[in-house]
Order: sequence, then C-alpha cells, then structure tokens
Amino acid sequence: MVQATRRFEFSAAHRYWRSDWSAEENERTFGKCASLYGHGHNYTLDVTITGLLDTRTGMVMNMTELKAIVGEVLEEFDHRHLNEDTPYFRDQIPTTENIVRVLWRLIAARLPSHARLSHLRLYEMSDLWADYDGGDETTFARAYTFAAAHRLHAPALSDAENLHVYGKCNNPNGHGHNYTLEVSVAGPVAPDTGMVIDLVQMDSTVRAVLDRLDFHHIDREVSAFADMPSTGENIVVYLWGELSPRLGGGLRHLRLWETRKNLFEYDGIMIAR
Ligand SMILES: [Zn+2]
Ligand SMILES: [Zn+2]
Repeated sequence: MVQATRRFEFSAAHRYWRSDWSAEENERTFGKCASLYGHGHNYTLDVTITGLLDTRTGMVMNMTELKAIVGEVLEEFDHRHLNEDTPYFRDQIPTTENIVRVLWRLIAARLPSHARLSHLRLYEMSDLWADYDGGDETTFARAYTFAAAHRLHAPALSDAENLHVYGKCNNPNGHGHNYTLEVSVAGPVAPDTGMVIDLVQMDSTVRAVLDRLDFHHIDREVSAFADMPSTGENIVVYLWGELSPRLGGGLRHLRLWETRKNLFEYDGIMIAR
C-alpha cells in the first residue's frame, strides 16, 4: 500500500477545564493546563493518506488538493481558542487525543473517494503527541531524556573478543550519551478527562524508572546490567520490562535514541537467538 504524508501547522489556545468539577478537582487533574485564560501551542499535524495509485499522475492524491482540504479544516483551529471559538470542545476537553480524533473526522469526511485517511499524528509540543488511525484506541506519546555512562562489555566473551566486537565502546572506564526515550501508550480516551492516560501519573512513573539511569553509570549502578551488555537493544527491552507493568497495560511501543544516529525500538515481542 502506498502512503503519502504532508505536514501542517497551526497555532491555537486551549484550556483543560470541566465546569461540573470544583476548581480543586480541575487543578488536581489537569495541573497547569487548567490555567484560567488558557495557554497555547504551535501544533504540528502529519496527515498520511493511502489509496489507489493513479498510474497516469503517479500520485495517490494530488498534494495540492490535500493541502486545500486540510487547510480548510484547520482554518477553524488556527489562531483560535479551541474551547471558545470552535464548536468541538464544548463537552470534551481539547486534549491532544481529542483534537486528533476531531481532526480525523473532519478530514476523513472531505477526502475524495479514491483516497482514504491512513494515519494522523498531532504534535502539541516536540515531546508530546498523539497518533490516531480511526480505530477505538488512540495513542499518546511522550519523549523523555536521560544522560548516562556505560560500557559495552559482554561477560560471555573474552577481553579480546569484547574489544573486537565493541571497539571504542568497550573502553574500560566507559563513555556516555544523552538518551531520548519515546513512550507510546494506547487505549480508549476517558470521556471525563479526554486522556488515554493520566499525564501527571505517566510522567512520574516514567521519570522514576529513568532516574535510576539518569546521571549514573548503567553497568555499574543498575543491577540488571551487572552481567548483561548495556546495548541499546538491552536497555530498551529492560525499560519495557520496568514500564509495562507500571503503565496499566497501555504500553505499545518504545523508541530509544542512543545518539541522534542510533535508534532502538521495542514493542514487547522478543525473538532471541
Ligand atoms: Zn496545552
Ligand atoms: Zn555508547
């Protein structure tokens, strides 16, 4: 299946607030997002379409046409207050999860019959986004960073083999990285909060796990790595094992950037040799 993606941007204000809740309850649930007059973001929307390839034009859909359709939808959102100026968030909170679902409905309804919406990704900030593909589940993702030292060294290999396999990364005293971990959780959107997962709780859960590595030496200070090389593969699998039971079954995908060039991903399914 051929897919095509175009990126769009819009800027909007919003506020997380339920008028049927007390101020305390709103502030406890939504934190800073309950701020009285709202706050705002530069949103980035990646629209992915699929469909039958037109062999004459070589396109699934003319990008100019897609630009016009999505542009018309975003007119209602751009430089507006989502709660006050649009009709979509009178009875639901304009969370990233809810906004991406509203956009799906509006864009899907306008596409020509030969194309269909395949995926939407809406970034609220560079480290917070939601993914939606039209199903019951919405995916919410957040990126976290940690800085750690490590050394690649496998106890099962000789010193000479370790040096051969890992090269510079086998340096006895270690080296380090700024790691970025992208955590994707999925599930139904809770009607009262508009969220797939309690963001405050997710942040504190993930932070607590990453703080064991952050500003530490992974091999020397994290017992799981005492006898296991701290490769990106092993770290991402270790983090899955720590995070999955703490995130209520919602964890779907982890992406671990070791450097800007090295990416390791895991979805919980292990095939080892
Ligand atoms: Zn916000
Ligand atoms: Zn390294």
